[in-house]
Amino acid sequence: MSGNGQPDDETAAERKMRFLFALRSKGVTDARVLTAMERIDRGYFVRGLFAERAYEDMPLPIACGQTISQPSVVGLMTQALNVQPRDTVLEVGTGSGYQAAILSQLARRVYTVDRHKRLVREAAELFRELGLVNVVAMTADGSFGLPDVAPFDRILVTAAAEDPPGPLLSQLKIGGIMVLPVGQSDAVQSLIKVTRHETGFDYEELRAVRFVPLVEGLGNE
Ligand code: SAH
Repeated sequence: MSGNGQPDDETAAERKMRFLFALRSKGVTDARVLTAMERIDRGYFVRGLFAERAYEDMPLPIACGQTISQPSVVGLMTQALNVQPRDTVLEVGTGSGYQAAILSQLARRVYTVDRHKRLVREAAELFRELGLVNVVAMTADGSFGLPDVAPFDRILVTAAAEDPPGPLLSQLKIGGIMVLPVGQSDAVQSLIKVTRHETGFDYEELRAVRFVPLVEGLGNE
């Protein structure tokens, strides 16, 4: 056994079974989401020291002081977003690119933005290597959305704001869904699902989460 309690001689297939089992036991039950998470190998998105923990259900550090989210949280957020095959999706907070890669399996096109250009560059390289041709990664302050591409069918924010940013609400189509963590950055936040109707927005609180903060402006690397 290794230090983390997993057998050293576990095969890739056994590792994948364990990964998917952990997702199901945490409430990720949507078949399309599970298939997408089975196809996208999280091992590509975690580098260096932590690479060997890529298949554990925990957040891990990535470059620029950021984190790749816990797989079960990625699964639950993706499930709540209810992405349809013809959808155009915006993700705010590319990070490692893992969440965007999963969305790429479910949507027609995914735009993902991050304030750190290094993260965008590295994620874009991975999307190319993995042949994920329907993901576009850009450096931008995602709290303003992408006015040139909007409106979006779905928006997923993977950094916590105190309130849903106004530009993102206005870039959501009627009938569209946005999932995002809201709350103070140093406290437990709430994962919120916002649905846009003809006449306004519906808000549903899903669960407690903890994300890095949504920060204004571009990063310095
Ligand atoms: N979805 C990522 C994890 C995101 S971590 C993954 O799958 O790995 C949160 C990310 O949000 C960080 O990379 C951080 O740089 C980014 N971020 C924070 N504030 C931002 C902003 N205003 N605009 C764009 N990205 C932002």
